[in-house]
Amino acid sequence: MLKIYNTATRKLEDFKPLDEVVKIYTCGPTVYNFQHIGNYASYIYWDFLIRVLKENGHKVRRVLNFTDVGHLTSDADEGEDKLEKGAAREGKTVWEVAEFYADDFMRNFRELNLLEPEVIARATDYITEDMKAVDLMTEHGFTYETRDGVYYDTSKFEKYAEFARLDLAGLQAGARVGFSDEKRNASDFAVWKFIQPDEKHAMRWDYLGRPGYPGWHLECSTIIHKELGEPIDIHTGGIDHVPVHHTNEIAETFAAYGCGLSRYWLHCNFITIDGEKVSKSLGNVYTLDDLAERGFAPMDFKMWVLSGHYQGTRNFTFESLEAARARRLHWRNRIALCYQSEVVGEEGAWEQVLAAVNDNLNSPEAFAIIDNSELSFMDWEKIDNLFGLNLILDSPDLPEELRKLILERERMRANKNFAQADKVRDKLLENEIAIRDTVQGSIWEYES
Ligand code: AMP
Ligand code: ZN
Repeated sequence: MLKIYNTATRKLEDFKPLDEVVKIYTCGPTVYNFQHIGNYASYIYWDFLIRVLKENGHKVRRVLNFTDVGHLTSDADEGEDKLEKGAAREGKTVWEVAEFYADDFMRNFRELNLLEPEVIARATDYITEDMKAVDLMTEHGFTYETRDGVYYDTSKFEKYAEFARLDLAGLQAGARVGFSDEKRNASDFAVWKFIQPDEKHAMRWDYLGRPGYPGWHLECSTIIHKELGEPIDIHTGGIDHVPVHHTNEIAETFAAYGCGLSRYWLHCNFITIDGEKVSKSLGNVYTLDDLAERGFAPMDFKMWVLSGHYQGTRNFTFESLEAARARRLHWRNRIALCYQSEVVGEEGAWEQVLAAVNDNLNSPEAFAIIDNSELSFMDWEKIDNLFGLNLILDSPDLPEELRKLILERERMRANKNFAQADKVRDKLLENEIAIRDTVQGSIWEYES
């Protein structure tokens, strides 16, 4: 039985699906720039969650969104629109910017061997539904209009503070005066923004007789309503989403449709880089391409991510990435050995791995078990599927010509033609294949 930590209850709970197909929603990328390794870490953890659910026999319908509109610089509905900013920076239209970074994200997604979600939803495809949702929230008495938009009156939702255990009085006391003087409560947020006559904003839709665009949180509640239907089983995101974004998604869903949003909420912690927050000004915003330039494969990074728990604080360093790579190559060689010599696995090893991941997705514990157990080729196949590391794809399939060389070399050795055999060994080494001669014959390994 799978146990997961539910942010909503702050408890470790048994996972019980609401229906036959597990409905999952993951808050996706804002497509205005390259995603950094911190972002990809979160998608690796959620991919692992899907794989664990499938291993437990569940069918899954998963939706991931692309925020391609109206995501402002801060959670407080202030600042420049990120897409507009990206467009200005690159001399492109906002639509071109969104397309470019969405494609880049999907390329990395595939390179990381992440399972493709059943639905990838672009926020801009749901604007009519967003308007209907605002209509409903207004009809139910949850909104008010200001000069710059339609706002959600959070005092109307009794349970607003519950999910994130918010201190609303403290928030109110600390609120800045000025910009938001029309806001009734500090925690109120825009569900729809109006575009002022002097404001440049390329993405615009007419609603309430004026041009505007949806507030950021709305796309997620709308997409969930349309593509999955509430309540869903699991909602995932980064820990930064708890106090504002997810709190507001829950509030919107309650106001529009009068129901709860999700049964379980999973949040992954942030990774830091060299002990610092990932940030442009610190110059530590690495992309997967940056890692590739330093010789690291996407799977090395995935191995690094899964070496830590999704709720733990992680610090990324190139030394720790090097260690993850060494572990991956070592596993690959263990598989190569298994493949050639039919290692008999230890009884119960796979069950131990499964028990570890079922205990709130404890991948580091599972990795330790893998390190310390004798595994059969069949165990490895299951492990590879569970973590999506492409270990097997990378290992037993030696190219035909290399396999022939190995056989040739064995023949030379049998004929005591050692000088020639050594030449072949060197040739194999050039292809990063090392040969170990054992009593059962020669065994190849990847050189690393
Ligand atoms: P964004 O494109 O900014 O909306 O971020 C996409 C996802 O990445 C969100 O779920 C964030 O919570 C997550 N995220 C952003 N930075 C980090 C980080 N340093 N570590 C882990 N996850 C992150
Ligand atoms: Zn969301």
